Amino acid sequence: MDQAILNSPHGRDVRFHAHPQTNFRLHEQVGPMVIGQGDGVCIVDLDGRRYLDGMAGLWCASLGFSDRRLADAAYAQMLKLPYQQTFAHRSSEPVIDLAEVLLAKAPVPMSKAMFQASGSEAVDTAIKLVWYYHAAIGKPQKRKIIGRQRAYHGTTIAAASLTGLPNMHNGYGLPLPGFLHVACPDTYRGKAEGETEQAYAERLAAELEALILAEGPETIGGFFAEPVMGTGGVVVPPEGYFAAVQRVLRKYDVLVIADEVICGFGRTGAYWGSQRFGLEPDMLTCAKGLSSAYFPISALLINDRVYQAVADFTARLGGFGHGYTYGGHPVGAAVALETLRIYDEIDVCGHVQATAPALQGGLRALGNHPLVGHVRGVGFMAAVEFVADKAARTPFAPELAVAQRVSDAVKERGVLLRALGPTLVFSPPLIARNEHMSEIVSAVAESLDQIHAQLS
Ligand code: PMP
Repeated sequence: MDQAILNSPHGRDVRFHAHPQTNFRLHEQVGPMVIGQGDGVCIVDLDGRRYLDGMAGLWCASLGFSDRRLADAAYAQMLKLPYQQTFAHRSSEPVIDLAEVLLAKAPVPMSKAMFQASGSEAVDTAIKLVWYYHAAIGKPQKRKIIGRQRAYHGTTIAAASLTGLPNMHNGYGLPLPGFLHVACPDTYRGKAEGETEQAYAERLAAELEALILAEGPETIGGFFAEPVMGTGGVVVPPEGYFAAVQRVLRKYDVLVIADEVICGFGRTGAYWGSQRFGLEPDMLTCAKGLSSAYFPISALLINDRVYQAVADFTARLGGFGHGYTYGGHPVGAAVALETLRIYDEIDVCGHVQATAPALQGGLRALGNHPLVGHVRGVGFMAAVEFVADKAARTPFAPELAVAQRVSDAVKERGVLLRALGPTLVFSPPLIARNEHMSEIVSAVAESLDQIHAQLS
């Protein structure tokens, strides 16, 4: 390779940088897409090519890529106090303010907020609190954790164990023992012909109860769920699902944890996905939209039942043996506070509700396309699932990589989306307007025809 290419950002990325969620050998051949700048809902690569980011990064850049107020909030806080820890009684004002604001906005009464730097860290903290809580109330054997197939909860060892996606387990010997997975509530592939959504939801709840009884209720500590599964392919649960599931969980004294890392802060059109889908969690994780991704910060909210039990236990054990250097970072908290202020000012939920039909309706109009098996979603999250045979719902052979090919064709048209297995997923910035949705839908429509022609 010539020297200029070797020393370009492309060449240096291949030489020096290993990428997460990437085929390393393929990366050596194709190299990176290097982004230099953000502009509203768009990002611009080093060659000046502009892309509408239909994924808001990784479901996170809710206010887009050039919000001056968020940059100013970070800068002002960095000048004033760039770092402060929260171990051993230490605090800072932005963190106190953010805790108060989050508790006021919580979907159900919550008692305390704890801060971390990522969604995975929030989920790990919640898993540890499930164990700690049950140990505190004298039931230390109640520590198995139930997640769901196709759920995504993060990449650390416990969060990846809770995740129900094989690519997060393969090669690592995961999940760890004690992590169980129930069926994904997939109305397209799981619901029987002629079965109502309510009946399907009841069937899933009965399966959950059977698992709890088989394992022994005295061993089951917690149940985690995303209100709408994101990375699993934007799976919207059937009518009545969380009501039915929670009835079972309460019966066996299993803690309920809502993972709002994607759904929180307006993405579904409600402030929290829990409100939209009837989840009443004991604990709630959030991240991503919390700071519109301008600074890494996440939070775990815990209710008073959990807090009171845990508080007694910390007194007995001489302190809470948990915490991160960057948990409660004042810059992250300042950026989050400004983000939440902006969401209120622009009425983010109202905007999502008003604009979602342009995305959801536009995509559903593609439902008759020969490649498309199912279109689903809510608010500003959606998925199109591809099939080889519409009537039989037969998936394409994975090696055809149909979703990836459509995603590549969409990118040629200046729109970024993400292929996840057999689906193409959508999660535009929450500031996207109708014209952006039209641009996304048109790019997909043209790309479907292009890939269909190639396949036939
Ligand atoms: N939970 C959910 C629902 C997520 O979507 C993600 C990230 N996509 C995580 C947890 C983990 O967050 P992070 O990547 O910030 O660790």
